[in-house]
Amino acid sequence: MAAASLQPTIRLTEATRLIDSHGRMIHDLRVSITDRCNYKCVYCRTGEAGPQYPELKIEEYLRLIELFVGLGITKVRLTGGEPLLRRGLIEMVRELARMRTLDGNPLDLALTTNGHLLDSLAAPLKAAGLARVTVSMDAVDEGIFERITRVPGSFQAVLAGVRAARAAGLTPLKINCVLLRGFNDDQIEGFARFAREEDVVVRFIEFMPLEEGRLWSPEIIVTLKEIVGRLRGKLALVPLPPREASETARRYTFADGKGEIGIIAPVSQAFCGACSRVRLTSDGKIRTCLFSQVEHDLYGRLRAGESAEELRAYIVRTVQGKEARHHIGEAGFLKPSRSMVHIGG
Ligand code: SAM
Repeated sequence: MAAASLQPTIRLTEATRLIDSHGRMIHDLRVSITDRCNYKCVYCRTGEAGPQYPELKIEEYLRLIELFVGLGITKVRLTGGEPLLRRGLIEMVRELARMRTLDGNPLDLALTTNGHLLDSLAAPLKAAGLARVTVSMDAVDEGIFERITRVPGSFQAVLAGVRAARAAGLTPLKINCVLLRGFNDDQIEGFARFAREEDVVVRFIEFMPLEEGRLWSPEIIVTLKEIVGRLRGKLALVPLPPREASETARRYTFADGKGEIGIIAPVSQAFCGACSRVRLTSDGKIRTCLFSQVEHDLYGRLRAGESAEELRAYIVRTVQGKEARHHIGEAGFLKPSRSMVHIGG
């Protein structure tokens, strides 16, 4: 109570939306629903550390998400850890599909997965109301793929998952690939072919300093400029216009209009000024930036019995304090206390 009384009073109305102190409207919520993962991707995990943070009950995530939706969130992406490992996922998606935004529309509901269990789960997820999935896939060569995931048989499992997701209508189907020099940067052209053959949108993502170990260096990043240069040498790329201001990917198609690739460049061409995101970790903490140095214990307040109004006011205040931008590559940059797998990418 004493701590709460030190906070400035926030007057909540039906029209209260999440806006940070830099004037950015926040309408995109990413929720990690488990800290467990069945892959040990070399650029993400050390392979020795297991899950580090607890999970909430599905109904607790739903209660927290509902608070955000009541403050103008329109897009919810489930992630992890590996979200397909989470028991109760289908029921959770069904409940989320019933929620309505402040404008009375269904949520834009998506999920990010490594795809390992998608072959059997794609159709039930679609039936439960999921709109789209993004599958993480870091190579189109089976051997390279499995050297990255460190799981035998993972390539064929993910390929089957990608095809099942497309067949189930979880589209447009996006494939995210983190490029690292010396690991998989020879896969760029193969992915361009894969985008066309499998009718998927491939997005290359610059590697960020969010790994459990110590792999990141400016030299290991394959930048947007380099990717575009490499592809232009082989294929005629045609730039596609952005669909919204906060779109993170630079998008391209090919001369015949078949297939799409995108490049997400959080390091070389940061898009913090258009950021519309906030995150909820598997243990119910709000993170206002991937690179936040502090977390905000929303679940602790729920457990302590705070009312929906108090929790809503806490979310509004927390989002107001969202960081202006990240400081990757600058002197004094501090890695966040959690790595990507434990934040929820
Ligand atoms: N297990 C799910 C998956 O594989 O998509 C969801 C969690 S995973 C942490 C989410 C995404 O973060 C994946 O696409 C992964 O490649 C990406 N990722 C992990 N570490 C990263 C890093 N340091 N920089 C950029 N992306 C990273």
